[in-house]
Amino acid sequence: MKLEGMHHITMITGDASRNVAFYAGVLGLRMLKQTVNFDAPEAYHLYFGDERGSPGSILTWFEFAGTQRGRAGAGMIHTIQLGVAAEAALDFWAERLAANGYERRRQQRTLSFADYDGLRLELVVADDGNPPLRAVHPEVPAEHAIVGVEGARAYSGRGTEADRELLTETLGFTELAGGEYRVDGRERHFHWGYDRTTEVGVQGAGSVHHIAWHTRDEDHRRWRQRVANAGMHVTPVIDRDYFLAVYFRQPQGILFELSTTSPGFAIDEAPEHLGEQLRLPRQHEHLRPQLERTLTPLRNPRAGAVGA
Ligand code: ZN
Repeated sequence: MKLEGMHHITMITGDASRNVAFYAGVLGLRMLKQTVNFDAPEAYHLYFGDERGSPGSILTWFEFAGTQRGRAGAGMIHTIQLGVAAEAALDFWAERLAANGYERRRQQRTLSFADYDGLRLELVVADDGNPPLRAVHPEVPAEHAIVGVEGARAYSGRGTEADRELLTETLGFTELAGGEYRVDGRERHFHWGYDRTTEVGVQGAGSVHHIAWHTRDEDHRRWRQRVANAGMHVTPVIDRDYFLAVYFRQPQGILFELSTTSPGFAIDEAPEHLGEQLRLPRQHEHLRPQLERTLTPLRNPRAGAVGA
């Protein structure tokens, strides 16, 4: 039984309109779903990724409108690494980010920048085996498009011994040198690394809420049991409409989720119209009239016209 790499990473934003403008507009990801937070239905939950919403490409945000900026500290993810196919793509993105008013720092194989909330992102050349997971955007040539999420880095306040056993023995990550890890599935892998800090973080806009690892559907319950057997306090299996999930806080304090492949984002709208209309979890459908008044109206750039 192997984890299939990363499923999705979820952040907090203070501004849903800017979230769509940056990730679907500037970065050219596909906006896959407009829905609300299961546990706080007054807040948007927006999903972005490749054309099909493939696990490994998915970034999601809870919007808490106007919330203050957070700051990554010990026990929090501080940087997300997005893949591109080749170094030439870094030049394309350096120019595109500058044209949109974003500061960026180019190094040989990486381009570092922050989004409008201060979330740190890094474009990295992803030439070590992950199949490309691209979205189509009229201003982004396919050879320069983002090809999936390659890795994430977190701050460790307690040293990496705190969760080495969980990562390697229980979850099957491979430990590389210096607090670096890699998780290899049958098709995709993901890089996971730590940097030390003594800073205490603040959850807020631009901070990472959790990371979900991808399990095959048939293995999900066994993964839950395995994590429980390792002494983690793991939730029951929760139906998140687009996948099943369990959650636990790992020893560094980072919230981990384990998510299934199925049923995916085409369960409640046609694959060619993903993310164009507000979709509500069944138990919150009765709130629709109220939510349509209170949520900021969003326009998916894929939709033909406003309200389409
Ligand atoms: Zn999640």
